[in-house]
Amino acid sequence: MIVKIDEDLCIACGICEQICPKAFAMNESNDLALVIAYEEELEYIDCVEEAANSCPVAAIIIEI
Ligand code: SF4
Repeated sequence: MIVKIDEDLCIACGICEQICPKAFAMNESNDLALVIAYEEELEYIDCVEEAANSCPVAAIIIEI
């Protein structure tokens, strides 16, 4: 599973990290979310889709 963050859309609200810290984290300057899990791991982390659905600007793109 490929998960990407649309850098132009992300408003750095931190919701994805709160919902799914195994898959997402804020970068060092706290202005962009990063995908921190490997592609092979992502499909086993069950909060990825919930985080994507909770992103207020739909910046999390899931490609199955
Ligand atoms: S929930 Fe969306 S807008 Fe908020 S930090 Fe994550 S990717 Fe960015």
